[in-house]
Amino acid sequence: MDNQHSLNEFHWIMDMVQTIDAGLVVLDRNFQVQLWNGFMSNHSGLSPRSIQDSNLFTHFPELPEAWLRSKIESVFLLKNNAFTSWEQRPYIFRFNNYRPVTGISEFMFQNMTIIPLASLTGEVTHVSLIIYDVTDIAINRLQLDKANEKLARLSQTDALTQLNNRHRWNDLIGHEFKRVKRYDQTSTLMMLDIDHFKNVNDTYGHVAGDKVIAAVSKVMRDNVRETDFSARYGGEEFAICLTNTSASNSVILAERLRKAIEETSIIDDGNTIKVTISIGMAEFTASTGCVDTWTKNADCALYKSKESGRNQFSIFTS
Ligand code: GH3
Ligand code: MG
Ligand code: MG
Repeated sequence: MDNQHSLNEFHWIMDMVQTIDAGLVVLDRNFQVQLWNGFMSNHSGLSPRSIQDSNLFTHFPELPEAWLRSKIESVFLLKNNAFTSWEQRPYIFRFNNYRPVTGISEFMFQNMTIIPLASLTGEVTHVSLIIYDVTDIAINRLQLDKANEKLARLSQTDALTQLNNRHRWNDLIGHEFKRVKRYDQTSTLMMLDIDHFKNVNDTYGHVAGDKVIAAVSKVMRDNVRETDFSARYGGEEFAICLTNTSASNSVILAERLRKAIEETSIIDDGNTIKVTISIGMAEFTASTGCVDTWTKNADCALYKSKESGRNQFSIFTS
């Protein structure tokens, strides 16, 4: 009766091993396959019979062989479980993903546990690989990461101009200030303000005004180097930081921007609108005590440009 029961139990277990929704593989010390369950044969297309007693790696050239060998060797040696997650390696076996979610992943994301299997004498003679399909979890996580990245980008970007917003600018310029100070370098902070912008709003309306702001921003985006950074500082005020550039070397960009904006025509509702900008620049020096001073210095130079007739740039001098 007892024997009959054990036999039944063995059959039940084998049935469960075959149908469970996880891959079960048993390997001997030479990586020869000893057990290959239904999950593995369904997803690989290889029947247990065709893979039994043959070396696992000969059937799956895409397996990371050196890595997997050393992982399995360590399970034999230490007699401890080993675990790998889809975050380290998206998959072990390259199985197709048949989930209805399209366009995210063609393959099945997998976690894997390797467990040592001991013989009756206690010696570890085999290991079992347990492969879990974690595609749903992985895709959710990746989508969440993507959404978070997008949110982070949105929270740093001004919607009208696609430039950094003031908040992001504060972070960037704060960081840049520390950098130039620490490495005894210089960068130049440039403030720009559209001339007589109130007139634009008063004459053509706010929608036209917004169009002008967007057009000025585009000129900035097209002219600022990748190593520099810029922002919409306020309503129709902008800021640019030219990294590792002295004020005298910033003159070239200042003049290029001034001229490009002067030559830009904004068409709105049949009207051709033209604007100019005034620019102030201040380079970081040893006496620039903090970011606020640096900003004030550039503002001061901007004020000078306004005072001197607008549509021009000035460099701050102490
Ligand atoms: P100045 O040459 O001295 O700079 O003259 P200004 O008329 O440009 O004066 P100021 O810079 O003080 O004017 C800013 C104006 O910009 C005031 C505000 O109504 C307008 N403004 C600020 N933000 C926006 C915006 O997002 N859209 C529009 N359409 N107007 C804005
Ligand atoms: Mg203005
Ligand atoms: Mg202004």
